[in-house]
Amino acid sequence: MTIQEAIRYITDRLTNIYDDDEASNIGDWVIENLTGTKRTDRIINKALSITQEQVEKIESYLTRLLTHEPVQYVLNEAWFCGLKFYVDKNVLIPRPETEELVEWIISDCRFPIDKLSILDIGSGSGCIPISLKRRLGKAVVWSCDISHEALLVAKRNAATLGVDVNFTELDFLNKEQRDSLPSFDIIVSNPPYIPETDKKEMRLNVLDHEPGTALFVPDNDALVFYKAIAEFGKKHLNKDGIIYTEINESLGKATTAIFESSGYSAQTKKDMQGKERMIRALINRS
Ligand code: GLN
Repeated sequence: MTIQEAIRYITDRLTNIYDDDEASNIGDWVIENLTGTKRTDRIINKALSITQEQVEKIESYLTRLLTHEPVQYVLNEAWFCGLKFYVDKNVLIPRPETEELVEWIISDCRFPIDKLSILDIGSGSGCIPISLKRRLGKAVVWSCDISHEALLVAKRNAATLGVDVNFTELDFLNKEQRDSLPSFDIIVSNPPYIPETDKKEMRLNVLDHEPGTALFVPDNDALVFYKAIAEFGKKHLNKDGIIYTEINESLGKATTAIFESSGYSAQTKKDMQGKERMIRALINRS
């Protein structure tokens, strides 16, 4: 089988569950991972053939992909801010919206970098703290998560990508545990923000495969993480400190209100799709 035929074969099988573009992107990604060839190599070397071992791998990947398992978990890789992260079912797949949050923090940063301290709440794959540390080299970066397994993934990524992040295991919703953290100039988080009721509108690849604790919050307390972050920031933000969080696109007003009622000035920002997706909050100190 040639590389070209293999892509076509994977794409054809996947069109049962994905639209044509998505199926062909996945086909391309699988072949790139298996053969190490880039799209341009494949156009030039159309007749390059794949080995029997690779054919067998394709079959085993297809079995998993056809259960709606995301290609990122099947191949154990996801891209974020130009970096390749190891991912598995213990962590959320990094999203492009979150890259925009990271870019906002970097372009906004007025702190002297050699004295800057950052806390990320909810490490997941470690995509946020690792990307920030890569870009703001001298900053001290902390990141916490409740999940031991997620922290193993995040630490593995920090090691592979050659950065030092202070990962710590704690339940941020537990006041005593979060108060054990020091103070920071910047606090960032992409916390769980999807109310349980929204599950019915979600795609199977997310619902059946990504970790629920990283995604969902109770319907009657959807902003529980923002309340904890706002409360925490009052004690743990240094002078002129800033909070940046990703938010639920339909809860922009309510999330802003949480920060404002806790004594912050808050401002939302839209993502590339025009959805209200991020908040920046500055504490009002008189
Ligand atoms: N910070 C990680 C990410 O953005 C994990 C977020 C989460 O688990 N809610 O992907």
